Amino acid sequence: MTPTLELAFDLMARRSVTPEDDGCQELMMQRLKAAGFDCEPLRFEEVDNFWARRGQDGPLVCFAGHTDVVPTGPEANWQHSPFEPQIDNGMLCGRGAADMKGSLAAMVVAVENFVAKHPGHKGSIAFLITSDEEGPAKHGTVKVVETLEARNEKIDMCIVGEPSSTNKVGDVVKNGRRGSLGGVLRVHGIQGHVAYPHLARNPVHQAAPALADLANEHWDEGNAFFPATSFQISNIHSGTGATNVIPGELEVVFNFRFSTEVTADELKQRTHAILDKHGLQYDLDWTVNGLPFLTDHGPLVDAAQQAIKEVCGYDTELSTAGGTSDGRFIAPTGAQVLELGPCNDTIHKVNERVKAEDLDTLTAMYERILELLLAS
Ligand code: ZN
Repeated sequence: MTPTLELAFDLMARRSVTPEDDGCQELMMQRLKAAGFDCEPLRFEEVDNFWARRGQDGPLVCFAGHTDVVPTGPEANWQHSPFEPQIDNGMLCGRGAADMKGSLAAMVVAVENFVAKHPGHKGSIAFLITSDEEGPAKHGTVKVVETLEARNEKIDMCIVGEPSSTNKVGDVVKNGRRGSLGGVLRVHGIQGHVAYPHLARNPVHQAAPALADLANEHWDEGNAFFPATSFQISNIHSGTGATNVIPGELEVVFNFRFSTEVTADELKQRTHAILDKHGLQYDLDWTVNGLPFLTDHGPLVDAAQQAIKEVCGYDTELSTAGGTSDGRFIAPTGAQVLELGPCNDTIHKVNERVKAEDLDTLTAMYERILELLLAS
C-alpha cells in the first residue's frame, strides 16, 4: 500500500453521501496542519467546507475538490460493499474511488512530498474543499469563494481534482467548461372541445413550429476550445389525458450548453425573438446554472502538460467537454483553472473503481506541477 492508497482507503470508508462529510475533512486538515498549513473550517448551513493555506506570498496555487459522493443505489447491486474499499485485480473499488476521494488523497500526499523537499517554496499552496459539490452546490465552493473575495484573498491558479481522464490517467485535462442555461417555457392557449376548435386555441399547434425553429437554429460555430452551442428540449407536458379536450397550456423544459462565442443574454434574446415571431403567448423562466470559462495556455496549463509528459511520457489533450464542476465558481475570480484527475468511466455508477496505480501516477503529476510552479 502506498501513502496515497492508504489515505484513499481512509476517506472512502467514510459514508459521506452528499452533503455529509463524515469526518473526511477533519482527516485532511490533520494531515495538512502537520505539513504547515493554516486550516480554516467554513461551515455554511448543513455543509462542511474548509480552506487551508501554507505561505503568505503569491502566486497562490490551490487544489480544489469535494469530499461528498453521490448515493450508491441499492448496495446489493455492488460487487463489493461501496464503503468498504478494496483493491481487486489492481482496481481500487468503492464509492468515491474516482469521484473524487482518490484525487483528494493524491493531492494531500503530493503536497506533503513537495513541502518535505521544498520547505521554503515560493508563493503559497492552498486547499479549497467542500462537501456540497454533488448536491445543490449552494453552500459549498461558491460560499468559500465569496469569503475569500470579501477579504481580497486571490487564487492565482487552481487545480480541480475532478476525474478528467478518458483512457489513461492524464490523457485529458479540462481547461474550461461550457455554460449551462436552462429555460421553462409555458405557452398559453385556450382549453376547449376538439370538435369546436374555433372556440379554443391549441398551444401544442402554436408551439410546434417555434420549437422546430429553436431546435434547428444554428447558435454559433464554437471555437478552438469549445464545440458549437447546443439546444436540447428535455421535457414537454400538455394535455388533460382526455382525447376530446384541446389543452389550455403547454410546458417545455430546455437547456443550452454554450460556448464562449455567445453570452447567456444573447441566447435569451434570440430565444424570445423566435417565440415572438410565432406570435406565442407565453411565460419563460430562465436559470443560469453556470457561465462558460476557459483557461488558455499560460503557466498552469503549460506546467500541467509538461508534468504529464514527464511522468507518463504522453501528450495530454485540452478539452472543455463534460458537465459542470465547481471550477465554474472559481474561474470568475480571474483564477487560471484546470481539472486533472483519474479516469471517469465509472463515476456515479454501481461498482465505481479506478486503477490503483493511477492514483500514485496522479500524485506524481500533482507534485511535479507544484515543482514547476513553486520550487524555490
Ligand atoms: Zn466530482
